[in-house]
Amino acid sequence: MKKLFLFCLILHVGMFTSFAADPVKMWGQLQVKGNQLCSEQGAPVVLRGVSYGWHNLWPRFYNKNTVKWLKNDWKCTVLRAAMGTVIEDNYIENPDFALQCINTVVKAAIKNNVYVIIDWHTYYPQKEEAKAFFSMMAQKYGKYPHVIYEIYNEPMEDTWESVKEYATEIITEIRKYDPDNIILVGSPHWDQDLHLVAADPLQGFDNIMYTFHFYAATHGQELRDRVEAAWNAGIPIFVSECAGMEASGDGPLNVPEWQKWIDLMERLQISWVNWSISDKNETCSMILPRADKNGGWDESLIKPYGRLVREYVRKYNAYVYPDKK
Ligand code: MG
Repeated sequence: MKKLFLFCLILHVGMFTSFAADPVKMWGQLQVKGNQLCSEQGAPVVLRGVSYGWHNLWPRFYNKNTVKWLKNDWKCTVLRAAMGTVIEDNYIENPDFALQCINTVVKAAIKNNVYVIIDWHTYYPQKEEAKAFFSMMAQKYGKYPHVIYEIYNEPMEDTWESVKEYATEIITEIRKYDPDNIILVGSPHWDQDLHLVAADPLQGFDNIMYTFHFYAATHGQELRDRVEAAWNAGIPIFVSECAGMEASGDGPLNVPEWQKWIDLMERLQISWVNWSISDKNETCSMILPRADKNGGWDESLIKPYGRLVREYVRKYNAYVYPDKK
């Protein structure tokens, strides 16, 4: 009898933890309702996690072990694979290596049941290349609820009209193969011009969200007001990249301003992804160069900003990943 009780207890705990620790099992096929990201069942969802750095600058972290580590130790519910399509050795120049990096992370995310953003990481329009790439990704991964497409990281010099035209073509291509996964669309000036989006959003597509990026030591209340105004106007917003220092990715952290951004995103239930898992000598690179490429990082191997991100992501995602004690 004792043995039976123990068996039932183990079975129960095992079922509970495996369900509770798997975001994609909890929330399934994501959807957008009004301005809110929602689960398959229609309940609001806030994803929180980290972005890998450019694949062509920090390829060493693009492996299945970091995916597992960032889920289990950092408690991320979403990861972002930032596929560089500019800067040396980018996807356009060296597609085989880029695809190897991206596919490794995406496949590991699917295996570990975390959401993953496939990010076309650029500042300039490269429409034909992007169209062919997302066509391939949608055919390969469209059936997996884990995958989110980010079709243009940060338009820099484009007008909203040209981003809209670009987005329409890429979304149309993705939707030929994948009718439902979330697609993230950028806006001019490094994803800041949400007021232009709010005045003239895309029409005729489902499950579209608009990205907003901030660096807390540079971007303050004026932009928080802009985010809230766009949200109030019904625009679904996803913060696919953010950080606590200056927009260069370097300089001192501004923790009070960062806290204000976190408070705003949590109040509006906007998902947020932190930049980045990389090891350059700059504030935004979260990991030290001597840290192992496979994760397993104790606090001494994580830089101050990384420790802050890990603490916050763990705190806000604690309900998804309850202690197994
Ligand atoms: Mg799909």
